[in-house]
This record gives sequence, C-alpha cells and structure tokens, in this order.
Amino acid sequence: MIKYDVIVIGAGPAGLIAAGHAAELGAKVLLLEKMERVGRKLLITGKGRCNITNNGSMSEFFKQIYPNGRFLKHAFGEFFSTDIIELLNKQGVETVVERGERVFPVSNSAAVVVQALLAWVSKNKVDIHYGCKVDKLLANNQIIKGVVVTAQGVTKEIFADSVIVCTGGSSYPVTGCTGDGYRFAKALGHTIETVRPALVPLETAGNTAEQLQGLSLKNVNAVVWINGKKYKEEFGEMLFTHFGLTGPIILTLSRFVVDEIIKHNKVEISIDLKPALDDLKLDARLLRDLAEHGKKQMENLFKLWLPGKMVSFFINKLGLDAAKEGHQLNANERKRIRLLMKDFRFEVTGNRSFKEAIITAGGVSISEIDSKTMESKLVKGLFFAGEVLDLDANTGGFNLQIAYSTAWLAAKNCAKKVVV
Ligand SMILES: Cc1cc2nc3c(=O)[nH]c(=O)nc-3n(C[C@H](O)[C@H](O)[C@H](O)COP(=O)(O)OP(=O)(O)OC[C@H]3O[C@@H](n4cnc5c(N)ncnc54)[C@H](O)[C@@H]3O)c2cc1C
Repeated sequence: MIKYDVIVIGAGPAGLIAAGHAAELGAKVLLLEKMERVGRKLLITGKGRCNITNNGSMSEFFKQIYPNGRFLKHAFGEFFSTDIIELLNKQGVETVVERGERVFPVSNSAAVVVQALLAWVSKNKVDIHYGCKVDKLLANNQIIKGVVVTAQGVTKEIFADSVIVCTGGSSYPVTGCTGDGYRFAKALGHTIETVRPALVPLETAGNTAEQLQGLSLKNVNAVVWINGKKYKEEFGEMLFTHFGLTGPIILTLSRFVVDEIIKHNKVEISIDLKPALDDLKLDARLLRDLAEHGKKQMENLFKLWLPGKMVSFFINKLGLDAAKEGHQLNANERKRIRLLMKDFRFEVTGNRSFKEAIITAGGVSISEIDSKTMESKLVKGLFFAGEVLDLDANTGGFNLQIAYSTAWLAAKNCAKKVVV
C-alpha cells in the first residue's frame, strides 16, 4: 500500500507552497498534478510578468478580498507578502514594487517564479507526479484516507493522513482548472457557494463598443447603475473591445456586475470622460476653446476634447453637421456634448465566460473551514487552499497571496500531525 503523510492535489501556487512547506517541516509529501507541467496558470499571470503579491498593509488586503477578507487573518499572520518575497529572494528571484504597490519579479518573467517555486519544492524532496488526475477523495467516517487517481489510463488509490485540495477554480480551464475541487468537496458534504466568473470582461448592447474597439481610455470614471440607481464606481483605465468593455476598472467592477446580471437586474455602465471637470467647468472649457478656435470645423474641435478614435463617433451620435464651425454651436448643442462626455452610457448585456475570467468567485464555503488551520470542519485531515475556496480579490497581486498564505497554513497544520 502506498502511504504518504500529506497528499497535495494541484501544482499551482497554492499546491507548490503547500507541498514545499509540509515537506520542509518533515512530512512525506506527494504532489499530484493532472497537467504535464506545474503552474500553467501562474505562467500567464500579470500578462506573463507575474504580479507576485502586493506591498500594501494587511488591512488593505482585507478591503480587496471578497466575501470576507478577515477570514485570512491567521493565514496572513502566518505567511504574508514579505514572506513570499523572502522565499523567492532566497531562490534568486529579485523583486520590484511598482504602481499600486504591485510586486513583480525584476526579470518580468512569470516563468522565473514558477522555476523558483519548483526548485524549492524539489529541494524539499516532494514526490511530484505529473499527468496524474485525482478523480475523487477517499474518506471513512468523515476522516480523510487518501485519493483515487488516474494516470496513463491506470486508476489506483493512494493513501495519506492529510489531503490538501489546491485545485484552483474554474477560470482559464486550458490551464487545468476545471473546478474538480468543488466536486470533491461537495461529495464529502461541503457547501459550494455559487461559482461564477469574476475579473471578467463585460458585453454591451449595440455596436458602439465595436466601433471603438482597441481604444484605451485613461483617467476616466466608470459608474455602474443597477435598475437606474448608482451602485459602484471606479476611476482609472479601460478598453473597448468588439464585444464590450474590459480593462482594469471594468474588471474590478465586474465582480459586482456579474451578480446583478445573474439576478436579471438592468445593468448600465456610464463612463465619465472628463471626471476632473464638473458641468460648469466643462462648459467653461468648451466656451474657451470655441472662442479660440471658432473657425475650426467639428472634427478639429472634437480632437481638442477627445481621443481621435472617438471624434467621428461623437459627431455622428450627437447628430452634428461635420462642416459646422465652432462659433455656430449653440448652448443646447454644447449641453448635449457635455452630457455625452460626462455620461457615455452602455447597457451591459452579459459577461464573458470562465474562459476569459481571471478569477472564480464562489467556491468551498469558508464557513465550513477552520480559519486557524484551513482544515475542513466536516472531514478530519482534509484541507483546502487557494482559489478553490470562496475567496477572491481585485487585481494587484492579492489573489496569489491568498493562494500562498492559505497553503502555508494548511501545510503547517498537516505537518503538525506528523510530528505529534
Ligand atoms: C490571465 C490571468 C492572470 C492572472 N494574473 C494574476 C496576477 O498577476 N497576480 C495575482 O495575484 N493573481 C493573478 N491571477 C489569479 C491567479 O493566477 C490565481 O488566483 C492563482 O493561480 C490560484 O492559485 P491556485 O494554486 O489556487 O490554483 P491554480 O493556479 O489554478 O492551480 C490549480 C492546479 O490544480 C491542478 N488540478 C486541478 N484539478 C486537478 C485534479 N483533479 N488532479 C490533479 N491536479 C488538478 C491544475 O492543473 C492546476 O495546475 C491571474 C489569473 C489569470 C487567469
């Protein structure tokens, strides 16, 4: 009979940290990965640069995490951003802090991070089985016994005192994350909070976004309206695509928008293209430009106010005569220009699928997990770490930190059982 102290399922960031730490604490560890390589998703993080973590305070982390960042108090207390940076530094990965306290490898290479974690795991003598898919968990009387795996067409049982499920979520399934962990947890009685895409692009009605596709806007304010009521807003950068809207502020807002779409509420996003100017100041700006450039035609005037790609769209939308000169614009036309600049509105008709979602919201309910150990409250010896849990965060390095911290804490508590 093959028996380990700890079996870790999934070799993403959570699985690598869990396996490496349990082994360095003296446990005999087996890491099972269904793909042929470790960290497939980690390799594409941060557009291939890997936003490793965030340099912000713990209270900042709590604010960025849903549905309840404080659940991670113990996990962060055990292993936080400085700890992953130190671990990577020891493996030769130098890091740098960028805008928004985002931490990246100096090399700008996610591959370097994956190699460093794999080297650390191997140094700690973890057995790794690639191309080895876990089919189900084995438990008896609510005590974990091991797993059933299939590798190269052969199915077998492997036993362990503890199992840490690090199978990730459902987003970007090409990386190996197909929601298997939810199925394992559910089969042993766990509640799975509705799984849905988050940090995901949004689809909009009509062809306005399509006409503007490729255009990226900086320093704009996007407001979400639900059934006509102002709900949330974000300031920053966004992008138009052939299907709708994406970019940092849209992805952040999507965390809430997806839930409203599910509830069949009417969702609109209004973009304020001139957030630094209120209506009065914007009118003063238009009047000044019209006085200075009264002889210019609409196209040249609008170029003073908007990115080139928006100019003809705006002139058409407002029904203005392109040949008209600035001095001919009346107060009502100026008002309509201001309205469109301050409230460029899109009806949101849906969101893109898990294939394009950076993260999965929902998952194994944290109410059934002991936050001090990451152990299941229902099944002894069963632990969960990373995205499989009902925890997700905004962009900025927070999601990876959730994976490392929960994995570290789970590993420590599995290894404790070995020493005792
Ligand atoms: C495009 C993109 C960019 C991102 N950029 C960032 C970023 O820069 N910073 C950040 O903080 N977060 C980022 N994220 C989110 C981050 O990648 C995830 O939160 C993180 O990878 C979750 O780690 P995990 O270990 O829980 O799961 P995963 O990384 O998803 O790993 C799970 C592993 O389990 C394996 N597995 C699944 N089922 C089984 C099974 N049955 N048997 C065996 N193995 C199995 C999978 O093959 C996979 O290797 C990004 C995500 C995406 C999609």
